[in-house]
Amino acid sequence: MISVEEAQKIVLDSGLKPVVKKLPILESLGLVLAEDIISSDNIPIYDNSAMDGYAVRSIDIKGAEKSYPIRLVLASEDIPAGKIPKSKVNPGFCMSIMTGAPLPKGADSVIMKEDTQRDTTSIMVFREIEKGENVRYCGEDIKKGSTVFKKGDSINPGTIGVLASLGKSEIRVYGSPVIGVLSTGDEVIDIDEKLVAGKVRDSNSYSLSAQIKEMGIEYKKFDRAPDDEALLLKKIKRSLEECDILLLTGGISVGDYDLVKDILESVGARLLFWRVNQKPGRPLAFFEYKDKYIFGLPGNPVSVMVCFEMYVRPMIRKSMGSGNLFRPEVMAEALHDFKNKTGRINFARVIVEEKNGQYFFKSTGMQGSGILTSMARANGIAQFPINMGNVKKGSKVKVYLLG
Ligand code: AMP
Ligand code: MG
Repeated sequence: MISVEEAQKIVLDSGLKPVVKKLPILESLGLVLAEDIISSDNIPIYDNSAMDGYAVRSIDIKGAEKSYPIRLVLASEDIPAGKIPKSKVNPGFCMSIMTGAPLPKGADSVIMKEDTQRDTTSIMVFREIEKGENVRYCGEDIKKGSTVFKKGDSINPGTIGVLASLGKSEIRVYGSPVIGVLSTGDEVIDIDEKLVAGKVRDSNSYSLSAQIKEMGIEYKKFDRAPDDEALLLKKIKRSLEECDILLLTGGISVGDYDLVKDILESVGARLLFWRVNQKPGRPLAFFEYKDKYIFGLPGNPVSVMVCFEMYVRPMIRKSMGSGNLFRPEVMAEALHDFKNKTGRINFARVIVEEKNGQYFFKSTGMQGSGILTSMARANGIAQFPINMGNVKKGSKVKVYLLG
């Protein structure tokens, strides 16, 4: 048996290297940039109007107010978005302008339509404005030559919009590994089968697939396998052909029908560790097989999800070039006592609350590794250190924030 820290180190040091790909920007959502993005343009590329209104010289309407309107002559030209103005705004004049249209020469600001009244040849202005008001200046969002995003930044919908405005249709990103999910066990039945004594519906392949899907990456959910050596081996081999990391659930403990470890070793998979000093998820195993990796996750549904959070997700994130491998963590204070055995790390499923910048947590209820609702109701996983023993109300521990 090894410690949580050793197990995490082995998983993160494993050889799954980031792969750089060139992708159309819309396919890069949720991935990590493998290049710096430098702008070859100023954005916006010209001074333009932020409002529908009139381009003016601010000096001409100095002192204007409701009871003292100032009249400006309307230039014959008007400027819809997309048109370059031909004439300039002379003293005492104004030019009708739409949002996004280039600011004409002579003008230094835009008075909103709402602050004016128009007749055929002139407008009355009811408010003075500052020089530059309602003008979006050339390069105010992005300067030409500046580094807009850095290698290692994650790509969100806003990033994709900015990339589009910079004219980048394709970018270099770290690809994501394909993750396979295969649940095993004679007692496991399909989601739409009738639940009878001795059987359990396969929740593991669904919760795991959902955890992968939450990361925005591709998963393959394979049909479950029985506790039968030959069939199990066949399924595992076939599944491995289609993924980079295979997540097996069940059959990794020390029961008579826990065949996964022996089968994998018999085909030459190298066991990197088996059994971790933690609860839940003690039977966790990790294998290397050719250029692939296999997690032998326990069968218990909570163990499966917790091991995904603590080992699989960080490994996937590392292979995707991400800097933050683990969920954000805070130090939080227990709102009540927790029973907790000493001598191993305990990952408790908890509800975290924030009050005035301080974090607090309470239990989601029963904490057995079969109580899957404890995970469903949790927004955090508290890590009780190895020698902590019972957790007293008011003690502070590390809590990972989920989602
Ligand atoms: P095992 O690790 O194979 O001994 O399985 C431990 C327990 O986990 C079993 O008794 C089942 O109750 C449960 N279990 C195993 N596989 C699944 C699954 N795919 N979905 C939900 N529960 C499972
Ligand atoms: Mg089993």
